[in-house]
Amino acid sequence: MMLFDLSSLRLLPPSILLTKSCRFAAIVPVLTLWLVMAVSLATSFTALAKETFSLANIQAERRELEMASATDKVDVIQDIDQRIADSHNDQVRRASLYIVKANILQHHGLKAIEDNIAKALLLIDEQTQPELYLYAMVVKSYGMYIYQNQAEQAAIVLEKVQQHPALKNDLYVQVQGLSSLLEVYYKLKDFNKIAKPLFQLARTLTSKEIAPEYQGFFKELDAELAYHSGLIGDTNQAIAGYRKIITDSKPKGQIENIAVANCNIANMYFLPLAEKIQYAKASLAAARNLSCSDAMEKLVLLDEVQQGNLSNIARLSQFHSNQQMPSLNQRSAYYAGLAYLKLNDLAGAQSMANRMTDTENWERYDLLQKIYEKQGNYRDAFTASQRYHQLRAQKDADARALMLSSYQTRLEMAQEDTIAAEQAKQAEQLQAAEQKAEARLQLMLTVIAAGVGITVVLTLYLYRSRQLQRKLQQLSDTDPLTGLLNRRAFLRQAEHLKQLAERQQFPLSVALIDLDFFKQINDQYGHQAGDTVLCAFAKAANSTLRQTDLCGRFGGEEFILLTTQQDTAAFAASLQRLQQCFSELCLQDKQLGYAVSFSAGITTVFEQNAGINQQIEDAIRQADEHLYRAKASGRQQVCTEDLCLQLVSA
Ligand code: GH3
Ligand code: MG
Ligand code: MG
Repeated sequence: MMLFDLSSLRLLPPSILLTKSCRFAAIVPVLTLWLVMAVSLATSFTALAKETFSLANIQAERRELEMASATDKVDVIQDIDQRIADSHNDQVRRASLYIVKANILQHHGLKAIEDNIAKALLLIDEQTQPELYLYAMVVKSYGMYIYQNQAEQAAIVLEKVQQHPALKNDLYVQVQGLSSLLEVYYKLKDFNKIAKPLFQLARTLTSKEIAPEYQGFFKELDAELAYHSGLIGDTNQAIAGYRKIITDSKPKGQIENIAVANCNIANMYFLPLAEKIQYAKASLAAARNLSCSDAMEKLVLLDEVQQGNLSNIARLSQFHSNQQMPSLNQRSAYYAGLAYLKLNDLAGAQSMANRMTDTENWERYDLLQKIYEKQGNYRDAFTASQRYHQLRAQKDADARALMLSSYQTRLEMAQEDTIAAEQAKQAEQLQAAEQKAEARLQLMLTVIAAGVGITVVLTLYLYRSRQLQRKLQQLSDTDPLTGLLNRRAFLRQAEHLKQLAERQQFPLSVALIDLDFFKQINDQYGHQAGDTVLCAFAKAANSTLRQTDLCGRFGGEEFILLTTQQDTAAFAASLQRLQQCFSELCLQDKQLGYAVSFSAGITTVFEQNAGINQQIEDAIRQADEHLYRAKASGRQQVCTEDLCLQLVSA
C-alpha cells in the first residue's frame, strides 16, 4: 500500500493535506518535535525582544515621509525601500513603511497599492496592530473605488474604519478615511450620506489638538463645505465659503482656485441666472482654460446677447472639448441655446437642444419648451413644460431632503458634542470632588494623628508629672530614717481619718509613745545604734499594728499612733504586742543585744456612744500628759486618764 497518493493530493483541500502530512510526521521521534518547539519559541522570544514598535515613532516616521513626498516622490520611495531593508527585525515598522509606500504611490495604479498593502498585512493584523491595520484599509479602499470600480465595497470598508475603536489613536488615518469616504459618497451620488463625513472632517480639522500639517493636507475642506451648502440650497453660506477660498488664494496667486471657486458659485442650482453672470465673468477673468471655462463663457455670451451686444455671437457655436466637464457639456449648450432664442435663431437653438442628450436634465426641457413655444407647437411645448416642472420639482425635493439630512446630521453631532462635553464635565467634577474628599480625609487624618500625638505626649507628661508628684509627696510625707509618716503627714491624715470616723461612726483613739532611756543608748552604743532602735520600733509597728492604724514619728524618739480600736483595753493589748515585738527585735540585734522599752499615753479622740469628740491636737496634749505619768511612774507602762498598765518586754 502506498503511503502517499500524489495524484489524489492535488484535489484535496489544504486541511486534509495537513492531516496526511501530520500522519507522515508521526514517525519522527517526539524528541525532534520538542526541539522544533523549543527553537520556534526561542525565535519568537528573540523577535519579541527585538521589536521596537511605538505608535508615536511609527506615526512620526509616516508624517516625515509623506510630507517629504509632496516635494520629491522618487527620492522618498528610495528612502522607504532602504528603511524597509534596514528594519527587518522590526515587523511593525516594516508594515508601516509598506503602507506609507502604497499611500504615496496611490496615483501610480492599483498594483502599487495592492502589492504594498499585501506585504504589510503579512506582517501585522487587526488584533495586534489595529491602528496600522486601519491605515492599510484606508489606503486599500482608495484602490477599490479609484481603479476597481468598487465604490460600494470601498464605502463599506471605510465606514467600518470610522467605527473602529482604535481609530481615535490615529488622527491622520481618521482624517484621511473621512476624506476618502466623502469622495466615495460623491462617486456613488449618495448625497444623503455626505453630510456626516463632511462635518466630522470639519470638526476634526478645526479641533484645537490637530497638528498644523494636517490643515495643509485638507485645504479642500473649505471647498467641500461650500459645495455642500450650495447643494442643500444655502446659497449665502456657499458664496461666503467660496469667497473665503478666493480671498485665501489671491495673495498666493492661485488663479485656478479663484477661477474654480467662481465657477462653482455660478453653477449653483439655486442661484438665479442674473446673479450667476458676475461670477462667470470673475472666473474667466482669473483663468479661461479650465474644465468649467466653456460653460462660463456661454453664460457671459448669453448675458451679452441679452444686453444687445452681439460682437461675440460667433463663439456661441464653438465648444472647447478639453475645457468641458462632462456634466457641464449640457449646460454650455443650454446657455448657448438660450442666447440663440434671444437672437430668434430657432435652428441654432434647436442644434443646441440636440447636443443636450441627457433626458433627465431639466435645462434640456426648459430650452425645448421655449423653442416649441416660439414655433407655435403648443402641444409639444406643453409636454416639455410638464417634464421641465417635473424634473425641477424632483430636484427641489432632493435638495430639500438633502438639506434636512444635513441639518439632522449637524444636530446629531452637536448633541454628541454636548453629551461628550457633559460627560467630560461630570468626570472632571467627579475627579475634583474625589480630590477634595481625599484632601479632607488627609487633613482629618493629619489632625487625628496630631491629636493622638499630642494626647500621647500630654498623657505621658501628666503620668510622669503625677509620678514625680506622688514621689515628691511620698518623700515629703515620710520620715527618711524609719519610713513612717512624719509629724505633718500624720496630722493631715489623722484629720481625714477623724472626719471619716465621725461620718461612719467608728471609734478613734490616739497613743503618744516615747522610748525609755534612749539617750543612754546613744551614749553607750553610739548614735547609729540609736538609729537602729528607732528603725526596729518602726518595723515592729508595721508588723503588729492593723492596716487601718496610722503610725508616725512625732519627733526624736517619740512616736504617735491613731487607732480604730474599740476600747482602751484592746488598745493597750495591741501596745503590749508592739512592745513585745519591738523588744524582741532589739534583743536580737547583735550590737545592742537587750530589750528596749517604751512608755505610752493613750486617750480617746472620738466615740459616739461615750459622747467623746475632741480635736486631734487636744487629744495629743492629753495623751502627752498620760505619757508623762507613765514615765513618772516608772516607765514601760501605758497610761490612760484613770490607770496605768505595765508592759511586758521580751
Ligand atoms: P526618758 O526615758 O526620760 O525618755 O529618757 P531619754 O533619754 O529617752 O530622754 P531624752 O529626751 O533626754 O533623750 C532623748 C534623746 O534622743 C536625745 C537625743 O540625743 C536623742 N535623739 C533624738 N533624735 C535622735 C535620732 O534621730 N537618732 C539618735 N540616735 N538619737 C536621737
Ligand atoms: Mg523623749
Ligand atoms: Mg525617751
